[in-house]
Amino acid sequence: MTETNEHTAVVIIGAGVSGLALGNFLLRNGIACTILEKHSREYVEGRQRAGTIDSFGVRMFREWGLAEVLEGDPVAEAEGGFWIDGEEMPIEFGEDENDESVFCPQQVLVRNLTDAFLRDGGDLRFEAADVSLEDFDGERAVVRYRDPSGSMGVLDCDFVAGCDGDRGVSRASIPAEALTRHSHEYGYNWLSVLAEVPASPSGMAIHSRGLAGLIPRGAHASRLYLQCPPDDTPSDWPDERVWSELEARFGTPVATGPIVDKRIVPLRSVVHSPMRHGALFLLGDAAHIVPPMSAKGIHLALHDAEVFARAVIGWSADGDPSPLDDYSDTCLRHVWNYQAFAAWITETMHNAGDPSYAGEFRKRIARAELERQFTSPTANRLFGELTAGVN
Ligand SMILES: Cc1cc2nc3c(=O)[nH]c(=O)nc-3n(C[C@H](O)[C@H](O)[C@H](O)COP(=O)(O)OP(=O)(O)OC[C@H]3O[C@@H](n4cnc5c(N)ncnc54)[C@H](O)[C@@H]3O)c2cc1C
Repeated sequence: MTETNEHTAVVIIGAGVSGLALGNFLLRNGIACTILEKHSREYVEGRQRAGTIDSFGVRMFREWGLAEVLEGDPVAEAEGGFWIDGEEMPIEFGEDENDESVFCPQQVLVRNLTDAFLRDGGDLRFEAADVSLEDFDGERAVVRYRDPSGSMGVLDCDFVAGCDGDRGVSRASIPAEALTRHSHEYGYNWLSVLAEVPASPSGMAIHSRGLAGLIPRGAHASRLYLQCPPDDTPSDWPDERVWSELEARFGTPVATGPIVDKRIVPLRSVVHSPMRHGALFLLGDAAHIVPPMSAKGIHLALHDAEVFARAVIGWSADGDPSPLDDYSDTCLRHVWNYQAFAAWITETMHNAGDPSYAGEFRKRIARAELERQFTSPTANRLFGELTAGVN
């Protein structure tokens, strides 16, 4: 078996949102990097998840000269409403002149970031199998992988950026005793369904049967969510049950159509600390998970990518390691702040409907919280962003 040895400054594991954003930031600043992605380009560019990039992400791409990555395949803006116990709430979402968030399906962002990286001469290797990390607890690291022809590649580098999600190889390579996992399970999950029918109505429904969401995914498709018990599987939800349950929770007829994907999304919050071990830095979902109700996974992935990119660029320019030394603390402060928001919005939205998890007292508290959002112009903007952002 042939083996090729190469050197680069940063090996990035994973061509998702954090890995591709980081690769572009480094490349534009003359830092050599190689991205290793386990799947094919076609697979990665077809993976549908989030739909909204928040104001932070929009400003960040603009500042790095990458505004173009938010363009293409525009999705119709969601005019989402709110239903409580089957009745639509008479609320109007306030305008926010500082809100620059845009609709950009995650697969479009990934495709555009890939195009920009390759166009600028970036080194992105798809179908890199059996990625493994060695000698990374010191100052440098070695990354091995197998390319599609079966040859082994060996990359010697200054830093490894673990951007390979919650189930990747990066975090799993860190000795268990060097990492602490903080986690919270909410006690319920979401059935997430992709259907080939426009969302009608669109928005979120709070109901004693559980939370439901109907979110547009362009002119001809929608993403549907149904709160469900943690041990449910997609086979518990035949198509007819999905539609009748949506109607029951919204209290109004919903447009039905072919269902093309059905999966269970766990509702949990997870933080791994610290986000660095030697030459290995964890970014995005590899380090933390926020529940999908908050729609902040992309935000955190992009934030990590920017903090790490600035630290490497600074170190390369003047040899100052302190931003790299501060990376974990800087990101974790931000992550916990967003975990606080994510836990609050998740519990408020679910407790306000179904009392079987947290009890009647918490339900009444959650209802009071919701009413406060609906009557405060600033706060109800949040719900406008949420119905648009959850995807
Ligand atoms: C159904 C669903 C809906 C969501 N909705 C939203 C939303 O509305 N808003 C929001 O902000 N967030 C949402 N999220 C979360 C968001 O998608 C993630 O937080 C975000 O993708 C994290 O980016 P990342 O770069 O850390 O990981 P990813 O984007 O997952 O990228 C990781 C990459 O690493 C690759 N990889 C994995 N293992 C290896 C390996 N061993 N070797 C090489 N490569 C590897 C993967 O193939 C992948 O390309 C949603 C997630 C799901 C699942």
